[in-house]
Amino acid sequence: MSPVYKRIILKLSGEVLRSDDNCISPAIVQEMSEAIKSVVDMGVEVALVIGGGNIFRGLSASRKGMDRTTGDYMGMMATCINALALQDGLESLGIPTRVQSAIAMQQICEPYIRRKAVRHLEKGRVVIFAAGTGSPYFSTDTTAALRANEINAELVLKGTKVDGIYDKDPVKYDDAVKYKEISYTDCLSKQLQVMDSTAFTLCMDNKLPIVVFDFHQEGVLKNILCGNTEAATVVK
Ligand code: UDP
Repeated sequence: MSPVYKRIILKLSGEVLRSDDNCISPAIVQEMSEAIKSVVDMGVEVALVIGGGNIFRGLSASRKGMDRTTGDYMGMMATCINALALQDGLESLGIPTRVQSAIAMQQICEPYIRRKAVRHLEKGRVVIFAAGTGSPYFSTDTTAALRANEINAELVLKGTKVDGIYDKDPVKYDDAVKYKEISYTDCLSKQLQVMDSTAFTLCMDNKLPIVVFDFHQEGVLKNILCGNTEAATVVK
């Protein structure tokens, strides 16, 4: 199998890292790193955007009385913790990585510099974008859409706990039907929540395809990048 994509962005929610007794499960980090390694080994240039929802979300905190902006900065710092965990997991498998943060943390990682990020990718390093966009009131989905456009990625892959987009919640309804492919406009008219509206619009306006898949399903990432999207939903 050979890949049909050269450069992609993989967006992982912080929640994907969580286990029952740990907000960052070392076993899950390992599992994710192995899946990422399998596509890096095929020669695909991989940039990662990791969320922070397993640790902190500004919006949820603001609903309980915290200042939204402060909470969002805390959320962005949470993504940095996850980024370091992933960096550790990937490097333990021998994959060179660079964490680039949208908020300067010079002792810990590089600042986000687009041209440098592209150079790292060209050299086969995995770039992990941390601290979201660096601005409150945004999300890491928006970060993925923004960075994907900036670095000319061909695809935004959204790894979740569900294997695609359904017409209704597959956890609640047995008769939920999965879409193999759906247009941006159908997602909007059917009010399907693929990403938050800012992120979704950024992809739609720039014709950047989104692939939603279940990260825990073995081999799925590799299949998608080789053009087999059976086990996912493509939005384009
Ligand atoms: N965040 C932010 N600006 C950004 C990205 C993230 O303020 O550009 C904050 C926001 O509080 C968010 C938190 O970081 O709730 C964690 O990100 P997100 O909710 O996107 O993580 P995920 O749900 O993907 O784990």
